[in-house]
Amino acid sequence: MDLNTITRFRRPRSRGDLVLAPGETLLAGGTWLFSEPQPETSGLVDLTALGWTPLKVSDAGLRIAATCTIAELLALPQQPGWTAQPFFRACADALLMSFKIWGLATVGGNICRSFAAGSMTTLAATLDAEAEIWCPDGTDRREPVAGLITGNGTNTLAPGEVLRAIEIPHRTLVATTALRKIALAKLGRSGAVLTGRLDPDGSALFVITAATLRPVLLRYPELPDAATLRADVADAPDYYTDPLGAADWRRQVSQVLMDEVRVELAGGAR
Ligand SMILES: Cc1cc2nc3c(=O)[nH]c(=O)nc-3n(C[C@H](O)[C@H](O)[C@H](O)COP(=O)(O)OP(=O)(O)OC[C@H]3O[C@@H](n4cnc5c(N)ncnc54)[C@H](O)[C@@H]3O)c2cc1C
Repeated sequence: MDLNTITRFRRPRSRGDLVLAPGETLLAGGTWLFSEPQPETSGLVDLTALGWTPLKVSDAGLRIAATCTIAELLALPQQPGWTAQPFFRACADALLMSFKIWGLATVGGNICRSFAAGSMTTLAATLDAEAEIWCPDGTDRREPVAGLITGNGTNTLAPGEVLRAIEIPHRTLVATTALRKIALAKLGRSGAVLTGRLDPDGSALFVITAATLRPVLLRYPELPDAATLRADVADAPDYYTDPLGAADWRRQVSQVLMDEVRVELAGGAR
């Protein structure tokens, strides 16, 4: 939609240009910003003008620039040994109307919008990704992406802070992953997304997103049995009610689907 409050548009050339004037907002892919009125916003600062390299593969893992589009992430050729790479696609598929917004929506924009159903948050939380954040005073700070999200649409970013990149460590890229999702409507936004990761050392992580206001991470030294996981998922905090699902429905389906994730990680063994 047209944003008729916008009177200024800036294309930054350097980090110094990212200091925001009153009324200015950072623009990434614009798929959310242009989807509803922004009455508080009078200027846009286009992060994509900085030309950040979308993806950097190294021995340490994968560095994803905040401005990397979801389409660019999915186009990364399969890396040797990265058993978790198909999980990128599984997460991207959890985004409503995926095929329409993959080409524009950025990984950073999805995380910074911080919706409970943000599928790049699901990806980052499940793979223990860390956020590199540029602060307006010129310093940097780092934080696990899972901890960055504080609620459905809220995060720890202070005014003027910019998500520069997220980094996925190599150790989780060589893990085994699984995902289940459910929505009330066939093509609707996810009401619950359940993911899991089994590391080569046998430890396991299970993550609830979309069903809870913020990511819930459940870690175990080894794959838990069905009853333990079910109880922990049932006890998880922050299940919520909105038009995409009731809290008790979300709690219930999360228990069922997380067990499917557990079984898949176990190689099908109950
Ligand atoms: C049809 C449709 C379906 C959608 N489905 C979903 C869905 O299923 N799940 C979901 O979570 N969202 C959904 N969205 C919302 C939104 O499009 C996505 O969250 C998208 O990934 C946002 O990315 P973007 O790059 O377009 O961000 P933008 O719209 O450009 O920005 C989003 C917000 O993040 C801020 N921002 C962007 N980048 C940075 C950065 N690097 N540092 C700091 N702040 C930043 C912007 O200032 C803005 O407030 C949907 C939108 C549409 C139109």
